[in-house]
Amino acid sequence: GQPVLAVVGRPNVGKSTLVNRILRRRAAVVQDTPGVTRDRVAYDAEWAGRRFALVDTGGWEPNSSGLRAAVSAQAEMAMSTADAVLLVVDATVGATETDEAAARVLRRSKRPVLLAANKVDDERLVADTAALWSLGLGEPYPVSALHGRNSGDLLDAVVRTL
Ligand code: GDP
Ligand code: MG
Repeated sequence: GQPVLAVVGRPNVGKSTLVNRILRRRAAVVQDTPGVTRDRVAYDAEWAGRRFALVDTGGWEPNSSGLRAAVSAQAEMAMSTADAVLLVVDATVGATETDEAAARVLRRSKRPVLLAANKVDDERLVADTAALWSLGLGEPYPVSALHGRNSGDLLDAVVRTL
């Protein structure tokens, strides 16, 4: 079937907003894949004529203790079920220990991993995203899921990768 892109990262970095942004731009059909739990909803997405399934991993987010372990587990799960993984970090916060733990897991993956530096609502914030090279996942793509800023560049990279 279609290649699967899983979106992972800490709570509140903007994963769901980014997923909605990608779907809205393509006016894609949003559907719950039968047999998939609500924690791992797959949506039909399309960019530049390439169709792919987009998995928002929001349901795995804990709200208190064990955050780092939970995000690492989320990354492990994504690696085992997806063709590529998109790690979303909050560029206004920078790389936290939880982001680093997720990146460590993802670096072991044989799957391609892309890094989205979200909440770059303003050109002035782009320079800050260079610090995210430290996660060892290659080029950070600065985006604003909220405003749509640069999401096309990220999606170009996604479809090149899938
Ligand atoms: P998730 O928990 O990772 O799925 O994050 P959400 O998509 O639920 O977003 C968490 C919060 O961050 C919400 O208040 C969003 O409106 C906000 N947010 C998401 N993307 C952006 C962005 O690009 N810029 C700003 N300023 N806020 C954002
Ligand atoms: Mg979410």
